[in-house]
Amino acid sequence: MAVFSAPCGCCVGRRQFLATGLAAAAAFPLRRAQAQVPAQKPAARRIDVHHHFMPPAYMKEEHERLNFVHGAVSASQLLSWTPRQSLDVMDANGIATAIVSVTTPGPWYGDVAAGRRLSRLWNDYAAEQIKSFPGRYGLFATVPLPDTEGCLAEIEYALDTLKADGIGLLSSYDGKYLGDPSFAPVFAELNRRKAIVYTHPTTSKCCTSVMPGVPPQAIEYPFETTRTITSILVNGTVFNNPDIRWIFSHGGGATPMLAGRMVDTVGRHPNAAKFIADGVLAELREFYYDTAAADTEGSMAALRVMAPVSHIMFGTDYPFVKVADGVQHLSEDEMSEADRQAIDRGNAVALLPRLRA
Ligand SMILES: [Zn+2]
Repeated sequence: MAVFSAPCGCCVGRRQFLATGLAAAAAFPLRRAQAQVPAQKPAARRIDVHHHFMPPAYMKEEHERLNFVHGAVSASQLLSWTPRQSLDVMDANGIATAIVSVTTPGPWYGDVAAGRRLSRLWNDYAAEQIKSFPGRYGLFATVPLPDTEGCLAEIEYALDTLKADGIGLLSSYDGKYLGDPSFAPVFAELNRRKAIVYTHPTTSKCCTSVMPGVPPQAIEYPFETTRTITSILVNGTVFNNPDIRWIFSHGGGATPMLAGRMVDTVGRHPNAAKFIADGVLAELREFYYDTAAADTEGSMAALRVMAPVSHIMFGTDYPFVKVADGVQHLSEDEMSEADRQAIDRGNAVALLPRLRA
């Protein structure tokens, strides 16, 4: 996949980055319309790093609080969810293992006791399913950020007692992105533990209904992810915590499309000389990204220009999408078989060696 690989992220200037991108773009004509790509039989060993659980007691409480509407999936479907439904979808799409995480809005709504209780409820439920279905699930545990004390306690419980694979965070809490200085003790602990931090978008206070009728996942979520990536760069969260392995969902949101722009703009931030000394692109290339809702041709092209293929992992966003559609989209993206296998499974195993069969 040489055409997508910049020689060295830390050495790539803006002009070279753009040139690399243009070369890759030229290699990506609109194949969706042109190619006669036969549907591929799903590989049987995919690892889905973006897969949501809907613990019934948690969902019931969330629904009573929010009367939620989750777009394409009805409230009654979410409230009647069972792990068997998840496994059926996994089996139909060649997914051997799913690393489960909470989706927005998560357990935090300003009530410290409730945040701690709901985090524990969610994590314990997920851990039970991991035991009940050996080999089928892993866990990015949820924590009640911005409650620092509760968060630290849940990190300890999740990683030490439940043996979680990592910690799942949302892109912002109470309008604060992940680079906010108040979150520093939590990231220091995650860094001490060399933890994997999986980050999922939510809706920030600023942007809950910018355009009525347009759901936040259409536009706001990709920019939420981009904002929090920018936040952890310019505020030194990445610099100060070099042992955290970061995964960003949905292909990093809008980041791949904006990466060339961010090299110059974010790169001129007053803190950049200290915290982003090797350049924005070098940092972006260190993160991991999942393919959920970023699996179509244009999104994947931009992502593969920005990030090495070894940092791209299969993700679905189950149950909020038709998983088969994402699988089909990826099957239509032109790539080598080695890259396909790496994205489907190999890269996740490299990050989470316990998943090696
Ligand atoms: Zn999701």
